[in-house]
Amino acid sequence: MTVKTPIYLDYAATCPVDPRVVDTMLPFFTQMYGNAASRTHSFGWTAEQAVDNARAEIARTLGADPKEITWTSGATESNNLAIKGVVEYVLSGEARTEGRPHVITLVTEHKAVLDTCKYLERHGTDVTYLPVDAQGLVTAAEIAAAITPCTVLVSVMFANNETGVIQPMAEIGQVCRARSVVFHTDATQAFGKVPIDVDGMSIDLLSMSAHKIYGPKGVGALYVRRRKPRVRLAAQMHGGGHERGNRSGTLNVPSIAGFGDAVRIARETMPEESARIRGLRDHLYERLMAENEHVFLNGSYEHLLPGHLNISFAYIEGESLLMALKDVALSSGSACTSASLEPSYVLKAMGLNDELAHSSLRMTIGRFTTLEEVDHVADLLKRHVTRLREMSPLWEMVQDGIDLNSIQWAAH
Ligand SMILES: *Cc1c(COP(=O)(O)O)cnc(C)c1O
Repeated sequence: MTVKTPIYLDYAATCPVDPRVVDTMLPFFTQMYGNAASRTHSFGWTAEQAVDNARAEIARTLGADPKEITWTSGATESNNLAIKGVVEYVLSGEARTEGRPHVITLVTEHKAVLDTCKYLERHGTDVTYLPVDAQGLVTAAEIAAAITPCTVLVSVMFANNETGVIQPMAEIGQVCRARSVVFHTDATQAFGKVPIDVDGMSIDLLSMSAHKIYGPKGVGALYVRRRKPRVRLAAQMHGGGHERGNRSGTLNVPSIAGFGDAVRIARETMPEESARIRGLRDHLYERLMAENEHVFLNGSYEHLLPGHLNISFAYIEGESLLMALKDVALSSGSACTSASLEPSYVLKAMGLNDELAHSSLRMTIGRFTTLEEVDHVADLLKRHVTRLREMSPLWEMVQDGIDLNSIQWAAH
């Protein structure tokens, strides 16, 4: 049997929109096109009703109140609003100030968090970037040890986009709550894939995005806790005071309706879908480990999202492997910067050397992945890993039992 190519194994980057979600969205373009802020006619009321329904779906999925959901353009904006919003509210003098505000985050966060923190550092905020262990994990005790009297915010991602590793949310939340520090999480990868309970996990702010859960691109949300304790944010977007003053701008009603439906589907199908996706992921993982030598899983297997698999293939040049897999859409452990191919900072933070980081692949499985596709990718990898290693002088030395670490390489 032949499989249709290209094969999409990059669901952590984005997803196709579920056809049911498209159907939900369509009427809002040409029939129910009102502005949700129009209070004087039925077009507005219909749009507002759709927005309210979507808000309720998201709130229900988090164990939150609909009033605690603020619409945004995606998780990048949600992270900006959460992090700058907390710090700038403090700096505006409305909240306690004991010196320069201090933020704690992880070295393995998404750029939307790291670049926002870098920006704040240039404007008088202190930021601590905590390391992770070889499994990609941080502990609540490490967070607790980093908290100072000036700490106003802890931002720790729920699950990592490159490895799928899930952090101990409830434990970190407990530490933050006990020290009265606001706890934000970028839950873009985890939301809709694993159960989340903002009260049980003491989460105060939580970023989400529709396009990672089969909704449209360009819409997201931020959960903002309203009681016990009430979290206050400085708005980043001004102009009309929409979203309880948190984020002005006319709401993207079709996308919000689609986001709500995507969340409903994700919540209702979560047990079966995560079991099916996990089954495919484990099948791929077991085949790769059984059929290839010197391959390593990046991240703690016990703490992985169901669809993530990040694997290093030692003694292989990452670029050659990607080239050989050109019919498979996946991500590599290298990021293209303007000038060169940089090894992934997430994998490096877990202790991988540049070579292993470069020879890593992120394969993410989703709703529309089939067993045939996964088997085809395992076949391809087996064939090309073997072929590329046969061409590699390093591999030959490994086969001859030479310890590569003992070799004095010529300086270059
Ligand atoms: C995709 C992603 C983002 C960015 O989300 P957008 O909605 O595309 O802005 C942020 N954080 C994580 C962890 C992501 O996976």
